[in-house]
Amino acid sequence: AEGLPRPAATRVMVVANQKGGVGKTTSTVNLAAALALHGARVLVVDLDPQGNASTALGIDHHASVPSIYDVLVEGKDLAEVVQPVVDVEGLFCAPATIDLAGAEIELVSLVARESRLQRAIDGYEQPLDYILIDCPPSLGLLTVNALVAGREVVIPIQCEYYALEGLGQLLRNVELVRGHLNPQLHVSTILLTMYDARTRLASQVAQEVRDHFAAEVLNTSIPRSVRISEAPSYGQTVMTYDPGSSGALSYLEAAREIALRGIAAETAEAKGAQ
Ligand code: ADP
Ligand code: MG
Repeated sequence: AEGLPRPAATRVMVVANQKGGVGKTTSTVNLAAALALHGARVLVVDLDPQGNASTALGIDHHASVPSIYDVLVEGKDLAEVVQPVVDVEGLFCAPATIDLAGAEIELVSLVARESRLQRAIDGYEQPLDYILIDCPPSLGLLTVNALVAGREVVIPIQCEYYALEGLGQLLRNVELVRGHLNPQLHVSTILLTMYDARTRLASQVAQEVRDHFAAEVLNTSIPRSVRISEAPSYGQTVMTYDPGSSGALSYLEAAREIALRGIAAETAEAKGAQ
């Protein structure tokens, strides 16, 4: 992977879709690894009690490991829980443990319950180009914390029949958070995942998504690939598990698009501000 231009400021990207199994975690860890292989410094925040992103990055996340739960509920510094990912330089992870399952309830009674992740990220002093937040499949307080902390929303969409159902609810939540808590929040990126170009349904759904979200959908879609689904059981992303595979190459290309679109957006914003 060649080097890519790095963003002027850390891009905080929330990978969300309240539907389970659409490729949130897979896309979070592989895009993060791909961006790191392109030369960026990247932190993955695992915000799903399942801890699948932590597992896929080979990060120890048994119950006693300092985790994002301690950050959100106990007010621990993010720096105290971040671990380096051993086989990818520049890639880091704030793991989730099973404790996080209780956080959704515990957060309810805490002060500034919606902005605890934002505060933790603001207080993190290590230089980073990207923070990717892997959300659970719900729109509860954990996802709200991510939406308050982030600036960009990345929505992975699986090209199947019900793909667009439920998306309206996510978009309304993004609007609500934008209106009340985080004026800069917007959907910047839509990624088509598990795409099988041979089926007519997949290409129809892909076309429908591209018609609705012309500017946000990446040109690159992620193919359905056994190598992608095997990698986590080796505690690896497909980027190191099988770097030459179609899955790895498509995540590298998607990461490149994300990096270049970010630079284009920065330039447009700078011009607009003049
Ligand atoms: P989510 O985080 O949205 O619940 P996951 O990323 O865990 O979704 O993906 C759901 C399942 O689909 C996992 O078993 C994962 O390995 C598999 N998967 C994800 N992307 C692909 C792909 N491109 N090709 C094949 N399997 C995939
Ligand atoms: Mg997941």
